[in-house]
Amino acid sequence: MYPDTELHIAGTWGPGAEGQTLTVLNPATGETIGRCAAATERDLDRALEAASRGFTAWRKVAPFERAKVMRRAADLLRERADTIARVMTLEQGKPLAESRIEVMAAADIVDWFAEEGKRAYGRVIPARADGVLQIALREPVGPVACFTPWNFPINQAVRKVSAALCTGCSVVLKGPEDTPASCAALIRAFLDAGVPGDVLGLVYGDPAAISGYLIPHPVIRKISFTGSTAVGKELASLAGRHMKRATMELGGHAPAIVFADADLDRAVAVLAASKFRNAGQVCVSPTRFLVHDSVFERFVDGFTAFAQGIKVGDGLEPDTRMGPLIHGRRLEAMEALTADATAQGASLRTGGKRIGNRGNFFEPTVFTEVPLSARIMNEEPFGPIAAIQRFAHDDDALEEANRLPFGLAAYAYTRSTERATRVQQGVESGMISINHHGLALPETPFGGVKDSGYGSEGGPEALEAYLVTKFVTQANF
Ligand code: NAD
Repeated sequence: MYPDTELHIAGTWGPGAEGQTLTVLNPATGETIGRCAAATERDLDRALEAASRGFTAWRKVAPFERAKVMRRAADLLRERADTIARVMTLEQGKPLAESRIEVMAAADIVDWFAEEGKRAYGRVIPARADGVLQIALREPVGPVACFTPWNFPINQAVRKVSAALCTGCSVVLKGPEDTPASCAALIRAFLDAGVPGDVLGLVYGDPAAISGYLIPHPVIRKISFTGSTAVGKELASLAGRHMKRATMELGGHAPAIVFADADLDRAVAVLAASKFRNAGQVCVSPTRFLVHDSVFERFVDGFTAFAQGIKVGDGLEPDTRMGPLIHGRRLEAMEALTADATAQGASLRTGGKRIGNRGNFFEPTVFTEVPLSARIMNEEPFGPIAAIQRFAHDDDALEEANRLPFGLAAYAYTRSTERATRVQQGVESGMISINHHGLALPETPFGGVKDSGYGSEGGPEALEAYLVTKFVTQANF
């Protein structure tokens, strides 16, 4: 029912050179469900050699042909969605319906990048002299090392792999060790669709050892990482030392400002659903709720009722709306954040405890009146804890929104165009969604500013990161 995961290197699935494996747990039960092969340096060397060969061949494949292969991969993902979704829920914990949505959304992402790769044009620059041709060529950057996390085992990987493949790059992907099998199913779809084996490698193992080996390696020309700001800074500095391009999609602590004139029912429904989706383990999850005094109690009542109504359980059960946290460390983090907020005088409206003693379940939790010194107001919770604060003046909300070093997503609810415009212009974030939740479509930019990283994983900007510019000037006399 749950497959073990092997490495994919140079067109072959197999174990690591030393036969080492990692245990995969079901976060809903704590039981071992399978194993994942772990790579050694010998495996990484083979993967790098393959990526080098793969790049030489794949960059020559016409973008039209690359697009056909990618669209086949998208179709395979759709055909296999039910099977892959089950595997994802077993290893990641999210409700089955959400796993299925993730697979179907991944297919759309592949389709979009397949088409966009056909339009990665350069340009002709008018010359100053007769007989001179000046061209800016767009060429694939080269073999790329990608590092992706467990919260969206397929969607974090598919954006990087699709952008790389559509521009003619080869990839060595280090997938998420907690959720290896669904990520491997994504890679299998690409390979079955006709992506050559050398072009797409998949490895797992000790994340620090693998990134420490791949990033400085001369074969690798670019890296792309999704994960915490702390790790991102380590990898970015390593990339900098070796002059490698990098895309960094890191943590956030998204402010959600609810103004006095907001459509309150909509704000509660959309923000609460976004907050608890994937048990709060989402980088763009709204996490600091800033609500105007005049609507504060109504917002808190509605939000708390929503949280209390969430059925928490095993993602395979049909009525489950929120699954477990990925591992015991996240559970401990929730307990520590809750204890700290309570000790600092925050008001606990609901939740605050682990559920049962089997699996990593934590109650949907709502705090209000949280002092700014509390950890939850400063660290990304990455779990099902909401902190709702009140504000009296709009400027105070904007100031709080920009207080932290993060700048990934932000949200606002208001019926005033003037307020919406002020928020749009005043909030320091890579993305802002006003009066609805509209982030993370393949055709729109996705990325952060400040400590949330740099680069974009959506829209035409996503391709930029995988292309280098070569200027050619040619005199025909
Ligand atoms: P973690 O820092 O141990 O791992 C997070 C991810 O980074 C994992 O996928 C891991 O394999 C990878 N990683 C860690 N060290 C690495 C290294 N040296 N080189 C390459 N990859 C490395 O944390 P965790 O307990 O698994 O997750 C908790 C934190 O991670 C959260 O608080 C959140 O901030 C962050 N996170 C962010 C995202 C996101 O979507 N931005 C996703 C998952 C986790």
